[in-house]
Amino acid sequence: MANTEQVERVAQAGSGASAGSAEIGVIGGSGFYSFLDDVTEIQVDTPYGPPSDSLFLGEIAGRRVAFLPRHGRGHHLPPHRINYRANLWALRSVGARQVLAPCAVGGLRPEYGPGTLLVPDQLVDRTQSRAQTYFDGLPRPDGTVPNVVHVSLADPYCPVGRKAALEAARGRDWEPVDGGTLVVIEGPRFSTRAESLWYRGQGWSVIGMTGHPEAILARELELCYTSLTLVTDLDAGAETGEGVSHEEVLQVFAANVDRLRGVLFDAVAALPPADAPRDCLCAKALGGMDPGFALP
Ligand SMILES: [Zn+2]
Repeated sequence: MANTEQVERVAQAGSGASAGSAEIGVIGGSGFYSFLDDVTEIQVDTPYGPPSDSLFLGEIAGRRVAFLPRHGRGHHLPPHRINYRANLWALRSVGARQVLAPCAVGGLRPEYGPGTLLVPDQLVDRTQSRAQTYFDGLPRPDGTVPNVVHVSLADPYCPVGRKAALEAARGRDWEPVDGGTLVVIEGPRFSTRAESLWYRGQGWSVIGMTGHPEAILARELELCYTSLTLVTDLDAGAETGEGVSHEEVLQVFAANVDRLRGVLFDAVAALPPADAPRDCLCAKALGGMDPGFALP
């Protein structure tokens, strides 16, 4: 990381504010922060173990942003090995309340070809093996046991974050698809044609491997969470060639990363200030219920 000036160790989640703080979290690769002038790298531990990587704190339009490489720097973590609970916990522990989460997806309809930016409003979980709740009833390292809590995920994304993302894209002449269903599969393999046709037949829009459990974990921590999906390929059921290849995905992502970074930065600038009251559903997700542990 060329811009990293220092690495600070944060002893335990919850004490992060002393070493660095942020109001907005961005879960995405190094392409999003490597051009910032002044980036501070901090390491955060959580009760769930370490997050995917350090947090990289920087400033965009006067807003303090914590970037977290979802797959780790160098992209060594496959989607099913990512410690999603640690990632969301770490972002909250440094102060982030809004989270923007760009990710690469496949298009399930021919009209959602490579280069499409879709801001989903719905989610379908087809994963199999991931820790996807903080309310698992198991003792935590400090001995506390979470209470039984059921959080609504009827509307999985933050309306405030979605609006900021959509307006940011339009401001950069990149007309986004406003709404649609992101289906998240376990991976790391891509879909068979039959699976992909089935997903498409359900009316779902795009397919990825990381959008779940990020959205539900964010909600359980009363974080605002917004997914920005970049279509890098047509999924097997929507294309007529040889099927999806990893090279194809990487090429399209690389060709669009500058545009996507611009949209993200504008969305960051458009989010409400940290001291503004949060009146979206995300901020009241626990409805006053006692989670049985202190939120970081
Ligand atoms: Zn919200």
